[in-house]
Amino acid sequence: MIVFFLLTNTDNTFQCGATVKYNNFMKKFYIETYGCQMNVADSELVVSLLQDKGYKLTENYKESDIILVNTCAVREKAELRVRGKLTLYKNLKKTNPNLKVGLLGCMGQRTKDELLEQEPVLDFIAGPDAYRDLHNLIEKAEIGQRAVNVQLSKEETYGDLKPVRLDKNGVTAFISISRGCDNMCSFCIVPFTRGRERSRSDKSIIDEAKNAFEKGYREVTLLGQNVDKYKFEDVDFAKLLQKVANVSKKLRVRFSTSYPHDFTNKVIQVMADNENICKSIHLPVQSGSTRMLEKMKRGYTREWYMDRISAIKKIIPECAISTDIIAGFCSETDDDHKDTISLMKWANYDTAFMFKYSERPNNYAQRNYADDIPEDVKSERLSEIIELQSNMSYESNKQDLGKTFEVLVEGTSKRSEKRLFGRNSQNKVIIFDGNKKLVGKYVNVTVNKFTQATLLGEMNE
Ligand code: SF4
Repeated sequence: MIVFFLLTNTDNTFQCGATVKYNNFMKKFYIETYGCQMNVADSELVVSLLQDKGYKLTENYKESDIILVNTCAVREKAELRVRGKLTLYKNLKKTNPNLKVGLLGCMGQRTKDELLEQEPVLDFIAGPDAYRDLHNLIEKAEIGQRAVNVQLSKEETYGDLKPVRLDKNGVTAFISISRGCDNMCSFCIVPFTRGRERSRSDKSIIDEAKNAFEKGYREVTLLGQNVDKYKFEDVDFAKLLQKVANVSKKLRVRFSTSYPHDFTNKVIQVMADNENICKSIHLPVQSGSTRMLEKMKRGYTREWYMDRISAIKKIIPECAISTDIIAGFCSETDDDHKDTISLMKWANYDTAFMFKYSERPNNYAQRNYADDIPEDVKSERLSEIIELQSNMSYESNKQDLGKTFEVLVEGTSKRSEKRLFGRNSQNKVIIFDGNKKLVGKYVNVTVNKFTQATLLGEMNE
């Protein structure tokens, strides 16, 4: 910042030739992020926006002037965690009355003013499309005005911003390619908290990938609620994937989340044709029963989904496949549950995210269906699903014994600086001995041990 001359005003602000108000200069802010990768990418945009306005990021919330909590609303549990954290900040305000607390993201978008009334600790709320207004919300809070901006946008993609990477490893980076979702799955809150689907320009995405590569990142993950619906002018997702893969053959490319109804063979073929596009696909099914899929408004049948899985296994046999499963959705019968179990066995997933149905306010399911599956039945079905998946993940890792994989070293393991961790193309975590100088490098590792969740191995010299 350039300082021409200083005049002291009565309100302790400094005015200078560049008319930068002292209010935010060097004010420290702390940000914590809950929920999905998309929220992590959003927090990186928020840091970029605030740093451009002169605020300083701190990793110690106790020394911050502004605390930002970037939230998730996908399940009730996620919101309860945030409420717990707000209690901590309420106490912090007792010792630091000038502290400002802002809530960002999906929970803020879902609850709006209601949350401001319920949580006096909060000074402002900004929804996922309102981050450019954060500076103004903070300024209002500084003069005692509590404010909310939950305006959703049909255009906003933040495509012009340069995210500040928060993951210290300096190896992997998230790049959001689209925002919002037009699928109206009946159990989901995302279309209400993140708005309509819109895609960033392919040029801004390629530039961000090039920038990340130049900065030493060796892997990017393209993010969207439904990446398969990406479309900017004549560039669809398959074309975009190819363009990102062309940035450098040393840059690994991953993407999430695919949507069964829109997932094409073209995308699978681009993956097969490019070694640096990682061979792992996350294809949420949610249920194995077509009756349940209809009630969930997923837009595809069991057979359609199985056809997508068969296409992956045919074109890329070594591809790892993961999914999302909901147990105990409204009116789910034992037979519906058995359909989920049988489909999981047939697909033989490498891993999965598995949850009990958690009713969310104001979506189609909440307005039209009874949450009629007793909690103990939901828990029983979920345990059966988790047990099955644990066995399949164990078998999947067992298959890798003796195999050698190219691993991108992401960091040192939590237990020892002499142990490194990274992932293979199949998105499996591998732990092995090595020097931390190798972080950010590709190494070959031969698997000699495994658990249900992790592979262990030895680096080839
Ligand atoms: S695809 Fe369905 S589950 Fe996924 S974010 Fe969109 S509405 Fe939600």
